Amino acid sequence: MEINQENKFKRNLKKFGAVGLGCALVVAFALILAFSISNNVNPVSTTPIEFGLPMNNAEVLKDYSDSRLQHVEGTRKYEIHLSMDFASEDKNVLAVCEGVVSNIDTNTLEGTTVTIEHADGFVSVYASLDENIHVKKGDTVRKGQKIGEASQSSGYESGMERDHLHFTLFKDGVEVDPNNYLDLQSK
Ligand SMILES: [Zn+2]
Repeated sequence: MEINQENKFKRNLKKFGAVGLGCALVVAFALILAFSISNNVNPVSTTPIEFGLPMNNAEVLKDYSDSRLQHVEGTRKYEIHLSMDFASEDKNVLAVCEGVVSNIDTNTLEGTTVTIEHADGFVSVYASLDENIHVKKGDTVRKGQKIGEASQSSGYESGMERDHLHFTLFKDGVEVDPNNYLDLQSK
């Protein structure tokens, strides 16, 4: 009789012990979750980046499109255009935001290309530039600083037959629509 009761007690202890452990895990998980959420959402200290325009008095030659197939000038190809093409009488191409020049490259497809890394996971890429670039890799540039001039160096867009900037904006490694970030009404 006594032994039975003792066994029962042990069994209950095990059962409630397991439940208690489960509760502790749930509470710990909830705390971790709450902590990580409060760390990620921090509206007080971060102000959204304000982007400038990459060219003065720019005209949009070809808009961003992630769904609509667009004709690639000079070819018979149609494809999506995850960038924006700008042209202007003023050929100067300007950094849209302060950042660090992370790459300068020249290839026949995109022409001369400058890549600038900004805060908050933003990266801006300026393609179809003249090979005479005004910045060096590693330079810190300010918003509006001249980095080069628009040209027709992009073989890929050679059919455009006009000096232009092929501009791409990345956020966390993904091409985003510049219309959502650049104030195109302010030109
Ligand atoms: Zn383009």
